[in-house]
Amino acid sequence: MLAKRIQSKLESMIGVSAFRWKHLPDGVYVLNLHRIGDMTTSKLDPNVYSCSAENLHKHLSFLKECFTIISLAELNQLISTSPKPDKRYLLVTFDDGYKDNFELAYPILKSLNIPAVFFIATGLIENNELPWWDKVAYLIQRSHIQKIKLPGWEETVEFKTNPQIFIRLILNQIKRCAAPIGEQIKELEDFVGMPSPYPDAEFMSWDDVITLSNNGMDIGAHSHSHDILAKLSDDQMLFELSHSKAILEEKLGKPVKAFSYPVGSKNTYNDCVIEALKDNGYEIAFNFHPGVNVNLAKNRYDLCRFPIEYMMDDEALKKMLTYAKRI
Ligand SMILES: [Zn+2]
Repeated sequence: MLAKRIQSKLESMIGVSAFRWKHLPDGVYVLNLHRIGDMTTSKLDPNVYSCSAENLHKHLSFLKECFTIISLAELNQLISTSPKPDKRYLLVTFDDGYKDNFELAYPILKSLNIPAVFFIATGLIENNELPWWDKVAYLIQRSHIQKIKLPGWEETVEFKTNPQIFIRLILNQIKRCAAPIGEQIKELEDFVGMPSPYPDAEFMSWDDVITLSNNGMDIGAHSHSHDILAKLSDDQMLFELSHSKAILEEKLGKPVKAFSYPVGSKNTYNDCVIEALKDNGYEIAFNFHPGVNVNLAKNRYDLCRFPIEYMMDDEALKKMLTYAKRI
């Protein structure tokens, strides 16, 4: 990692980065975004913010000049007709279905004539309840605790300098712990004192999702409850895949065949989940690992995505794409 950083720094000093950027390999580059807006004013999880609306406009305008931007249908077409892409393609995706995707991202996408895929966790839209990561962030920001170790966690997490990092480290412990996430949230509520009530969730309405779908945007499934699929029993996991698909298809009146794994790191899904996706009529699935997708047909249930980070400028964006692995 360090060697790679030093290499990229040296290369940028002598102009190799610019050369590499110009000769970026062919492949499908998929961006993954979550929330859009000002993370500094949010009572909820600041780590879910990808960028401000202004930066989203900047990033997409810049990338539009450098890539052939494609829709989900065009990606499916590429997979079946040219499994080794012969150009640099870009697909834009959003996960979770936050309201700001509709209010801030959608107008920008429309103005730039860029299609995107919105992966919806159907239970989050239906229940209007805070998801576990927003509950954790809300509880921690409200309680001002300085350190915490819940049963089953590998280590104590301490506040150092930055609440955003403190929350991220706590979320990492929760994801790594074998105990169900719901149980850990109850323990956390007991530890810091349960708020009454939690603030409202900030997800899109069904009308918003339907409007996106009727106006050139694609909708995919992101499970029902946004639980980590590899932690669930087979029956629960199957329910997450089939129920979210059924709800979306009923609401949208069209087939839904794309999926993005909740959380999306390699330990959150496995071969059983991929088989279940195939059995349930999904044709394509996305993870949350950076990489240039080159072997499209082979990896159609394991397509890589680049995260957009909050403080990223165009240079950082270029660096991330330039030094990515080809998968
Ligand atoms: Zn998600």
